[in-house]
Amino acid sequence: MESSRKSQRLFTICILKILFLLVILTPTQLKSEEYMLKEYIPIGVTLQLYNFLQEASLTLPPTPVTIYYTKSLTEFHYLTDMPYNIGGIYENFQIIFQPREILVKKKIFEKVLLHELLHWVLYGLSEKYQEGLIYWYMGYYEKKEVDIFLNKFADFNYELPLFISYYWEK
Ligand SMILES: [Zn+2]
Repeated sequence: MESSRKSQRLFTICILKILFLLVILTPTQLKSEEYMLKEYIPIGVTLQLYNFLQEASLTLPPTPVTIYYTKSLTEFHYLTDMPYNIGGIYENFQIIFQPREILVKKKIFEKVLLHELLHWVLYGLSEKYQEGLIYWYMGYYEKKEVDIFLNKFADFNYELPLFISYYWEK
């Protein structure tokens, strides 16, 4: 009796582990590859990302990001429902890009990559400030989102770690 209960418990634990693995693996359903930052991201982008982490007093998120480069603009539009002037989108620890060759040809590959990776490292920050903060950090001051961010940022005496920790939601 005791041993059958034990094996039943073992069975339940196994099922739970499989479910857990399924949850972990779900983002890879797109057949995307998961890259470790240091192995894959161009060194220039990695350095900028680490600079940002330092300035913001953040560390890399515990959840890895999954990066998927679509094979065509049609596929990109199909998966993201975004117009072609959007190079990539970040959502829920997953980044979907336009085909890499196209971004490279437009000379925006590294910028778009950094932009989306910053969404990833800011995963806990209130979404209404993410876009503005990222555009501001990357020098796109003309974007309207930057004003929304800067208005609030001023209240924190332009202290990035303070601002981020105040609006951190996770
Ligand atoms: Zn963005």
